[in-house]
Amino acid sequence: MARLRRRLAGSTGALSRGLLMLISRDKIDEETWDDFEAVLIQSDLGVDPTTELVEALRSRIRVDAIADPAAARAILRQELLKLVDPTMDRSLDDTRTDKPAVIMVVGVNGTGKTTTVGKLARVLVAEDKDVLLGAADTFRAAAADQLETWGSRVGVPTVRGSEGADPASVAYEAVRAGIEQEVDVVLVDTAGRLHTKTGLMDELGKVKRVMERQAPVGEVLLVLDATTGQNGLVQARIFADVVQITGIVLTKLDGSARGGIVVQVQRELGVPVKLVGLGEGVDDLAPFDPEVFVDALLT
Ligand code: GDP
Repeated sequence: MARLRRRLAGSTGALSRGLLMLISRDKIDEETWDDFEAVLIQSDLGVDPTTELVEALRSRIRVDAIADPAAARAILRQELLKLVDPTMDRSLDDTRTDKPAVIMVVGVNGTGKTTTVGKLARVLVAEDKDVLLGAADTFRAAAADQLETWGSRVGVPTVRGSEGADPASVAYEAVRAGIEQEVDVVLVDTAGRLHTKTGLMDELGKVKRVMERQAPVGEVLLVLDATTGQNGLVQARIFADVVQITGIVLTKLDGSARGGIVVQVQRELGVPVKLVGLGEGVDDLAPFDPEVFVDALLT
C-alpha cells in the first residue's frame, strides 16, 4: 500500500498542486474556486464530478465557516472519498467450492491486458491457489507466446491454440483443463482489436458463453490504460456494450496518469476499480484501496 502511495504520488501531481493552491491562499475567493475547478477537470475527474465536488466543498466551507487550510483539506479528502465510493465491493470472485473460478480479462491491445493476467496469476499463486491461464487471443501468435512466458515466470500452465484458432474453442479448452486438473482459478486472456465492434461483440460474447457451458464466469475484468484519459472512457463504453463487466483494472497508474479517471470510469460503468497496475514488473499489481488512493492524490 505504501507502494501505491509512492507511485501515485509521482503520477497525479496536478490535483495535489491544485489542492496546494487552494489551501495556500490566504483567502479562498471566486478566482481560487475557478482555478481549482480547472485543475480538477485537468486531472481527469470529469465535468459532473468536478461540479459536484466544488459545490459540496463550497457549501461545507461556507456553512462551517472554514478558514483553516488543514480543515479545508480534510473536507476535500472526505468529498473525494465519497466520489471514489468506498462502499463498492472490490473483492474478486476468485474462490468457488465448485472449482474453478473463471476470470475473463478484456481490453484493447496495448492497455496491459496480458501483463495484468500474469501479475494476477502471481497474486493468486501467492495466496496458494492453483491457477491456469487460457490464451484466447489467437489472432496474434505473439500474444499467446507472451502469456506463456508470464505463465512460466509465475509457474502456472497455459492452454493455447494455434494461431488463428477459434478463440472460443481455446477458452473452452482452458476451462475444461481447469476442471480436469481441479485448479482454483482459470484466467482467460482475450483479443482486443477494436476495428470492428460487431466482430469484437461476437467474439467476446461467444468466448464467455462457451466457457459458461462448463463453469460460471465470475469476473469479467476490463483493463484500461489510465494514461489514455477520455479515450479509456470511450473504450469502456464499447466493452460494456458487448459484455457485462464486473470490475475494472486501471493500469499504468505509475506513469503520467491523472488519477481522476477512476471516478469517471466507475460512474460510467457502475462497477468498481478492483485492481491497479503500478509498473511492468511481476509484483506491480495492487488491490485498489479508495483511502490510499485519495491520500495519494492529496500527497
Ligand atoms: P496487451 O496488449 O493489452 O496485452 O498489453 P501488454 O500486457 O502487452 O502491455 C503493453 C505494455 O504496457 C507492455 O510494455 C507492458 O509492460 C506495459 N504495462 C502493462 N501494465 C503496466 C503498468 O501497470 N505500468 C506500466 N508502466 N506499464 C505497464
